[in-house]
Amino acid sequence: MNETERIIALSDAFGPSGFEDEVAEIVKEELKDIGTLERDSLMNHRMILNPESTGPKVMLDAHMDEVGVIVQAVKPNGTMKFLTLGGWSAPNLPSSAFRLRNGKGEYVKAAVAAKPPHFASAADRNAPVAVDNMVLDCGGISQRETEESFGLGIASPGVPDIKCEYNEAKGLFYGKAFDDRIGVAALIQTLKELHGEKLPCQVQAAFSTQEELGDRGVYANYKALQPDIMICFEGCPADDTFTEPWLIQSAMRKGPMLRNYDVMMLTNPRFQKYAVDLARELNIPVQQSVRSGGGTDAGRIHTEAVPSIVIGIPVRYIHSSSCYCTFEDYRAAVDLAVALCRRLDAETAASF
Ligand SMILES: [Zn+2]
Repeated sequence: MNETERIIALSDAFGPSGFEDEVAEIVKEELKDIGTLERDSLMNHRMILNPESTGPKVMLDAHMDEVGVIVQAVKPNGTMKFLTLGGWSAPNLPSSAFRLRNGKGEYVKAAVAAKPPHFASAADRNAPVAVDNMVLDCGGISQRETEESFGLGIASPGVPDIKCEYNEAKGLFYGKAFDDRIGVAALIQTLKELHGEKLPCQVQAAFSTQEELGDRGVYANYKALQPDIMICFEGCPADDTFTEPWLIQSAMRKGPMLRNYDVMMLTNPRFQKYAVDLARELNIPVQQSVRSGGGTDAGRIHTEAVPSIVIGIPVRYIHSSSCYCTFEDYRAAVDLAVALCRRLDAETAASF
């Protein structure tokens, strides 16, 4: 697949936290000419690009999971009570279509439904929108039909039923799951571009799972790979549509965002400066941010004294069904990661 085809396939892949196997299949297929990925029981995948290297070990990470849903129980009327896998904003859910995986591995469409306004009391209308008041509805009219005919029930996982579209003239992607499939795509491409080169560092790839449930998978990748340095690719929230212009720090089409601070990490200022300076030297557009929320796989790993940076590709409306990101921001993220891996030698790593 070429780069845009790969981004589309990754966006469309079914992979809520804990169910990343379809994403992993694409990763393995796309990297089969470069090497074999090792898998663990968390469905993490990892490989070392140049194991012969004695340079500092640089772990490039991207998480394969996406925010989704999981069925808690089927109601007598055939609708399903559900929980979210990862951080959904409740008002974004009602009336969107989801794709659930049933016990036979088939996909079944289901609507997220809230009480129709025609039947809502004044109290209902004033109540806050909450997942607890919503159901998934596959069209079944009884518990039995939903379970036996549709094959859905307890623990059925789901993701938004959205097909990725690419506007080639604009270099613009519309779809789901760019958090973090655009990062997964950037990691694959970075490995392809570095493959076969003599590098001053050992490049390690970590395709991690369950980030959206609290950065759970990446720690096993860290333990297996024992990196000295981490570069985390993320699909990060673009802030250019609802933020005061003076506070915009991760706008679409302004290059990847290098995050100085979020609630999980104060980014190593020396590594951060090194990356920003390198981007400037090579005319790669980058933005910097200080965020009052957020958190990434790097937040989990940097406390092991592994200098870490986040290369965030701006995505409008992450953690919703309808997201946008651009090819140019993805490309700049790849360019920066490739440039870093060509420069990070033992002396530089020791200076962080
Ligand atoms: Zn993410």
